[in-house]
Amino acid sequence: MAGILVYALHDDEGNFNKNSLGALSEAGKLAGELGTEAAAVIVGDVSDDGAQALGNYGVSKVYRAKDVPEGLAQPIVDVMAKVISENDFSYALFGGGLLGFEIGAGLTARLGAGVTMEVTKVKVDSGKLVAERPILQDSQIADVGYVSEPGIIIGRLNAFDIEETGGSAEVVDVDVELSEWSTKAEMITRGEQRGADVDIEAADVLIGGGRGLGSAEGFDGAEALAAAFGGNSAVAATRAVVDAGWYPYAAQIGQTGKTVAPKLYLAVGVSGAIQHKVGMQNSEAIVAINKDANAPIFEFSDLGIVGDLNKIMPKLTEAIKAKKG
Ligand SMILES: Cc1cc2nc3c(=O)[nH]c(=O)nc-3n(C[C@H](O)[C@H](O)[C@H](O)COP(=O)(O)OP(=O)(O)OC[C@H]3O[C@@H](n4cnc5c(N)ncnc54)[C@H](O)[C@@H]3O)c2cc1C
Repeated sequence: MAGILVYALHDDEGNFNKNSLGALSEAGKLAGELGTEAAAVIVGDVSDDGAQALGNYGVSKVYRAKDVPEGLAQPIVDVMAKVISENDFSYALFGGGLLGFEIGAGLTARLGAGVTMEVTKVKVDSGKLVAERPILQDSQIADVGYVSEPGIIIGRLNAFDIEETGGSAEVVDVDVELSEWSTKAEMITRGEQRGADVDIEAADVLIGGGRGLGSAEGFDGAEALAAAFGGNSAVAATRAVVDAGWYPYAAQIGQTGKTVAPKLYLAVGVSGAIQHKVGMQNSEAIVAINKDANAPIFEFSDLGIVGDLNKIMPKLTEAIKAKKG
């Protein structure tokens, strides 16, 4: 078939991840240009209706491995490796996110394939897919082609737009014998994290919280400040705090997170590392609060406040509330 296979992640209620739906749409579009077909892989307990509905995003077939747990990379590598090998898929496409990266990397190793990560665009050139990947801190774009099949393409988070095409997909149930190592981890619970549903890309005012907030509880103050602005305001985070588990990855801004351009980006306790800057430098106005006058964030801020955020942030919150009131 020589088509494109996409992994579609879902939650326990069967709702599909929006990055996965974007990847399905992208695969459907590219498959049309290649004159082939796009298909999805899903695991776990997804109803027939739920699986067929993925046809609305451009895939003609859905391979479903019902007995395989969702959310763990190695079992899904087993499923995708089998489906790719038995059906001669030329490409596997992922919508980004930590799980997509992990499965894509595992699949690459398993199949001895070529992989491109952090892809922002995919195009067709001479009947083959070429992945565009930003390099050198996003200042240049590299075109990456594949000399052998399958080629693995892992998108940057939110790189691919969701497009509803209408239609219903054929559902094919697959039995997969898991590798020994794939059964050694068990999913205990899956759940939403605080702030995971916040749409930071659509916010007009973003409070960017960094390690200077001191703890997960420190983000309460940032959330109070965002609430004081009201309307379309939200809290975002640096990778340092996401890695520390203080705030969810969905809110991470930067090279390995999201790119935003709000009207106001108010950075509290953020040093302004280059990997963070690339995700927020296009904000209309940047204001930073940092106790270190030499923090790099001040080099690209419109307004800088040198001081302790623990003193400044509560006063600023009250002042904004008073002004709004
Ligand atoms: C490959 C790669 C990819 C990366 N991707 C990303 C990414 O996508 N996004 C990202 O953000 N980072 C990313 N990083 C990490 C990045 O390099 C920085 O380590 C990170 O951005 C630092 O986060 P921070 O500013 O919260 O913490 P820190 O650098 O520790 O800065 C904390 C700041 O808070 C200030 N501060 C402390 N206490 C107070 C106080 N009481 N009042 C006021 N100010 C205070 C300090 O002066 C300091 O400037 C990446 C790194 C690598 C290597």
